[in-house]
Amino acid sequence: KNRIAVMTSGGDSPGMNGCVRAVVRKSLAQGCESYCIYEGYEGLVRGGDLIKQMRWEDVRGLLSEGGTSIGTARCKAFTERPGRLKAAKNMIDKGINALIICGGDGSLTGADTFRGEWPGLLEELVSSGEITPEQRNEFQHLNIVGLVGSIDNDFADTDATIGCYSSLARICESVDSIDATASSHQRAFVIEVMGRHCGWLALMAGVSTGADFIFIPENPPAQNWEDQMCGIIKKHREFGKRKTIVIVAEGAIDSELKQISPTQVKDLLSNRLKLDTRITTLGHVQRGGTPCAYDRQLSTLQGVEAVMAVLDATPETPSKFIAIIENKIIRSPLIEAVALTQEVAKAIAAKDFKRAMDLRGPEFAE
Ligand code: ADP
Repeated sequence: KNRIAVMTSGGDSPGMNGCVRAVVRKSLAQGCESYCIYEGYEGLVRGGDLIKQMRWEDVRGLLSEGGTSIGTARCKAFTERPGRLKAAKNMIDKGINALIICGGDGSLTGADTFRGEWPGLLEELVSSGEITPEQRNEFQHLNIVGLVGSIDNDFADTDATIGCYSSLARICESVDSIDATASSHQRAFVIEVMGRHCGWLALMAGVSTGADFIFIPENPPAQNWEDQMCGIIKKHREFGKRKTIVIVAEGAIDSELKQISPTQVKDLLSNRLKLDTRITTLGHVQRGGTPCAYDRQLSTLQGVEAVMAVLDATPETPSKFIAIIENKIIRSPLIEAVALTQEVAKAIAAKDFKRAMDLRGPEFAE
């Protein structure tokens, strides 16, 4: 009998709860046993109470809750082999033979490493007498499927990560609130948004709120950006605009790869354009709150697909993750997507910004 466990790992995102609910219920509906691993890889390494069997009603009400109610963590132990050895032992103790992980590229890379090492880990557990040879034969293959949960929308080969549209909606609401006060006082606001090394949230928030200027890592501004930005904002003011909004992605850089800080931008607007300028760092409000309808349906459809992918997998199938491309939920090879995701950072480091934007997707083209 298949025993399928689900966990959330890395940074939390709205919709992770929807994944947990969908995976638990689809597993049960398919006649499998369902388990949740609490606190990400920490729970897998520590085992015991952190691995719990789930019933249908245990995930009631989760669809509309933000964050992840089974907890998430960053776990150093799992990045080293002895930690993964403990994790393997805990899984076998509970009889778990499949793992569905909802997390970012770090979490999914870790999962693939774990799967690759699995036969060796089992041999080691047999030699130390921690599991029997019969158990090794029974649990020979570990089945892994990834779900991409991240507010940053920074994963290659999928149009949207679970949580990015909720976060974008929250950013837009916040910028709208700032707009009202900015217009009233004719102020300028420099707004820093999350996204780590990805500019998707900043770019889409800029388009969605009609910002005057944005800074993103994939497309650094021209060398004379100070003149350029001030020129554009001055022109907007001359057209009669009573407010100024500049959005700075947390990973924003200039063409020499030096970080661009909100303070730097604020000083320019205050000193050169004499605008009454404030900085707002949106911070963690961007992560929390109720998932939007899109993230509820994406997490549900992808969670269901993840269970089906587990049931269809053979020992030869490479690890998969569930993507959405042009509105279709599909299974894709995990490791290729992780490598492609890492290509963006390499392209930026090599100052090949055109490639960085091409890799990110069509919305970066303009
Ligand atoms: P995200 O999944 O959001 O990218 P992290 O990169 O922090 O977040 O990864 C979350 C956790 O996944 C880490 O704390 C670690 O336990 C595990 N992990 C990340 N990268 C690896 C790796 N290369 N090998 C093994 N485990 C990893």
